[in-house]
Amino acid sequence: MDRGVKGRVYLVGAGPGDPGLITFRAMELLAAADAVCYDALIDPTLIATLPWEIERHYVGKRAGSHSRSQGEIEELLIKLANEGKRVVRLKGGDPYVFGRGGEEALALKKAGVACEVVPGVTAATAATAFAGIPLTHRGVSSFAVLFTAHEASDGHVDDKLPLDKFAQLPGGTLVGYMGVGRLAYIRDTLIESGMKGGTPAAVIERGTTAAQKTVRGSLADLPELAERAGVRPPALIVIGGVANLAETLGMAGPGVLAGIRVLVTRPAMFAGRFYDLLRIYGAVVVPVPSIRSEKKFDESAWTSFREISSTGGWIVFTSEIGVRTFFELLPFAGCDLRALGRFRIAALGRGTAAAIQAQGFKPDFVPGVSYTTALAEELPSSIENDAAVVRVRGNLADDKVEKALESAGAKVFPLEIYKTLTAEVDDGMRAWVNEAPIDIVTFTSGSTVRSFFEQWGPEAVKILADAKVASIGPMTSAVLRERGLEVTVEAKRYDVDGLVEAIVAWASDR
Ligand code: SAH
Repeated sequence: MDRGVKGRVYLVGAGPGDPGLITFRAMELLAAADAVCYDALIDPTLIATLPWEIERHYVGKRAGSHSRSQGEIEELLIKLANEGKRVVRLKGGDPYVFGRGGEEALALKKAGVACEVVPGVTAATAATAFAGIPLTHRGVSSFAVLFTAHEASDGHVDDKLPLDKFAQLPGGTLVGYMGVGRLAYIRDTLIESGMKGGTPAAVIERGTTAAQKTVRGSLADLPELAERAGVRPPALIVIGGVANLAETLGMAGPGVLAGIRVLVTRPAMFAGRFYDLLRIYGAVVVPVPSIRSEKKFDESAWTSFREISSTGGWIVFTSEIGVRTFFELLPFAGCDLRALGRFRIAALGRGTAAAIQAQGFKPDFVPGVSYTTALAEELPSSIENDAAVVRVRGNLADDKVEKALESAGAKVFPLEIYKTLTAEVDDGMRAWVNEAPIDIVTFTSGSTVRSFFEQWGPEAVKILADAKVASIGPMTSAVLRERGLEVTVEAKRYDVDGLVEAIVAWASDR
């Protein structure tokens, strides 16, 4: 696998919005990048899930605060590449389709910086497909024109755009980028130039995302329909007979959480399933991990682990991060998977159990409810007196488990392998949060609550002002209430699936 070359810029298409529509090559390059520069239209979960070591530069033009000019973006790319970094310039859709990717490539070339382009799925094919509109269709449309109604320097639509000629081309599809603001002009020009007012047409806002909105009608009515529906950029204009096919091919109606913006404080590395489930119901995911973890290697703790591994005992995992970090550190402790051969394994929570299974091990013990106290109460009955128990943990874990096991006669060896830190807010996060009010803020542990407040400082109150609070279970809720917050949604099953279930139930009852 070519993981990319240092001192080079990759102009990479991120696809139209749905993070699943990014290419495999793009994911490979992202995973190996030193720096990523991304726009406002990029799905935030693609950025939030990047490893912390990767430098992130938000260069979105809609950031509000300090948006960068095209020239500044090009300078930044050149600077990063000249520092010897592997730079991914992540752009919405396809970099060479109305994305100024060509300009960036030329600027890089001129500066002597090596540059490679990775195409992406463009809005014209993706947003239409999700709206049930095939770009071409036998007997209806045998060509497609992609145009942009971008502004010329005097603020008017570029008059080189031959809309009058397009009007004379029946039997095809016209697809307009960046044109919602000039919809009336486009309609007027096309109709004045001979296109029928009754031509089917559609506007698709934020195609392929949870917030996708489609407005359909005739060319003559489209601007008013779009305005009434409050269509805003980014949106695509589609004009031609194929727009009618949406009636039959249009996707199922919106989910229960359609349009609801859900802030996820859970660490991104473990939030993939949470993001996916929320999206299935139509929610807009705003990923702002409030905590992150750092591996920690303490040789002396691993010495006891190695000793116990030769005689046998229990190993207790209480979090996914614990499992993942444990297996990452195992080789550094001079061990391989055989070191676990004599251990019996206990896991707290379905996520933790699943993470163990993903490593090829079947947990021997999983308590009925995912609660540290449940583990502490139930596990001792399975443990023989004097048994050695390795407790995998982070710096913040409480010692309930240790205490309960010790009082049951076990010899407990804490194996601290990670540190939990408060994640920093960056420009991208701030832009995602400020784009529109947050409807629900979710917390999946006490530490996500504490860190959320530390992370945002005085802004935390603002974010929470109009939002409902959703908690994964009673322990997290207790921490929220200590802070004076009202918990509107609490999961009945204390995992991510349970939390989504509870949010869906709450939304359906409203
Ligand atoms: N390079 C991008 C286009 C960038 S220009 C691509 O290949 O898709 C930005 C314009 O693209 C927006 O104003 C809008 O017209 C269109 N666009 C981008 N993403 C879109 C989406 N998800 N749904 C609808 N239109 C989109």
